[in-house]
Amino acid sequence: HFVFGLISQTMAAVLASPLAPIRKGSRVFFSLNSYFHCSSGLASKEHYKIVVLGGGSGGITMGARMKRKVGAKKVAIVEPSEMHYYQPIWTLVGAGAKSINSSGRPTASVMPSGVKWFKSRVTKIDPKNNTVSTDSGKELSYDYLIIALGLQLHYEKIKGLPEGFQHPKIGSNYSLQTVEKTWNALRNFKEGNAIFSFPNTPVKCAGAPQKIMYLSEAYLRKTGKRSKANIIYNTSLPVLFGVKKYADALWEIVKSRDLNVNLRHNLIEVRPDKREAVFENLDNPGETKIFEYEMLHVTPPMGPPSVLKGSSLEDEAGWLDVNKDTLQHKTYDNVFGIGDCTNVPTSKTAAAVAAQSAVLDRTITKVMKKDKPDKKYDGYTSCPLVTSYNTVILAEFDYNGQPLETFPVDQGKESRIMYHMKADLMPHLYWHGLLKGLWGGPGPYRKLMHLGMK
Ligand SMILES: Cc1cc2nc3c(=O)[nH]c(=O)nc-3n(C[C@H](O)[C@H](O)[C@H](O)COP(=O)(O)OP(=O)(O)OC[C@H]3O[C@@H](n4cnc5c(N)ncnc54)[C@H](O)[C@@H]3O)c2cc1C
Repeated sequence: HFVFGLISQTMAAVLASPLAPIRKGSRVFFSLNSYFHCSSGLASKEHYKIVVLGGGSGGITMGARMKRKVGAKKVAIVEPSEMHYYQPIWTLVGAGAKSINSSGRPTASVMPSGVKWFKSRVTKIDPKNNTVSTDSGKELSYDYLIIALGLQLHYEKIKGLPEGFQHPKIGSNYSLQTVEKTWNALRNFKEGNAIFSFPNTPVKCAGAPQKIMYLSEAYLRKTGKRSKANIIYNTSLPVLFGVKKYADALWEIVKSRDLNVNLRHNLIEVRPDKREAVFENLDNPGETKIFEYEMLHVTPPMGPPSVLKGSSLEDEAGWLDVNKDTLQHKTYDNVFGIGDCTNVPTSKTAAAVAAQSAVLDRTITKVMKKDKPDKKYDGYTSCPLVTSYNTVILAEFDYNGQPLETFPVDQGKESRIMYHMKADLMPHLYWHGLLKGLWGGPGPYRKLMHLGMK
């Protein structure tokens, strides 16, 4: 009885295994094909209806939406990181108002269930043959490809970095490794210059480089050190902010809080042993100016994902070349883009990703039905300009730099409620709405709040 039980258990295990025999006529074959398909690591080729590259804000969001559209088994996401971070909260982490741990969750917990996750990096995209390759030796083919690879930080383009971060007094809210260094520099501030930089490239969340300045000023005031600090914002841009309405409001704050703004100043070198930062005057190339610092916040130069280079998917500057209305690639009809890696001419934010996800969802539905995409992305983006530990100016605008405000109040004014939205409400909206593919931006609510007038 015991032996019979053992044999039948073994048979059951064999039948349930990926090597389950297939009966053809009177002969039995073992399906190596099904074995290879099920077991990641051994297979070299797999096909999915939809492949998503990148599992950040845009990738997870589109993965969730595509799962609903075609079923989990037909969707794959390629993302190397074990952890997923809600980057917008790093502004508050750098100012000591939130913990770094509160900003991250395991990637496994945000992956749409049932969707195949390849924990590797994409190394090659071949849109002519509808395939992508990964650093684990896999080749994936697709019917439709969604590219959500974000952007790359280039600290190394500033002489003296990134190794300079080993010294105290320097921080950067833009990366996981350096955001807590900002808080260390701020709370250990004694006396001297507190300098905040903005690079000479496109950046994500163009407000973040100055938000940390306002927070630092508030912190130094709160701790009685404000009179010992000379606060300087050195930006490569010719303006304080790209949208006039909000720029005007920010200039008022800059004046009233005695902050020094130098336009067209680009950080090119850091000498951490001497605590010196070297800026180039962009209006007079070659002319440099040395600033001593007691605290330095670096916003690094940024650029497109290097894997796009040479793929025939990129524009002249290297960004993914998509139609700004539909987010469909300009050359390859079955390739789409979302978020920071694209060349859509709007400010790169998670808020933009939300609005883009609703449009892209619709575009893909139409393309799958061989119809023309009809819904248009208006460039909606948003930047909660944190101006202290309890106030925010909630900038929202479109492709034309025109305010596109959700609430029926003047959002150009500092507001406590908007601070709570930024610090407490938006993270929930991100984890439980956006990443689940349920939040497509505030468009419908804006209409409601303005009684259908906007
Ligand atoms: C300090 C800071 C403050 C910010 N503040 C705000 C704010 O207040 N409001 C707001 O809306 N937005 C804000 N943002 C911007 C926002 O976080 C980004 O715009 C948003 O995350 C963009 O989403 P994405 O999917 O394009 O890129 P990401 O979320 O960065 O995701 C890109 C993903 O691609 C993966 N990847 C990269 N290369 C490869 C490869 N070769 N193969 C596979 N995967 C790869 C990465 O691991 C990453 O997970 C802020 C960002 C920072 C850093």
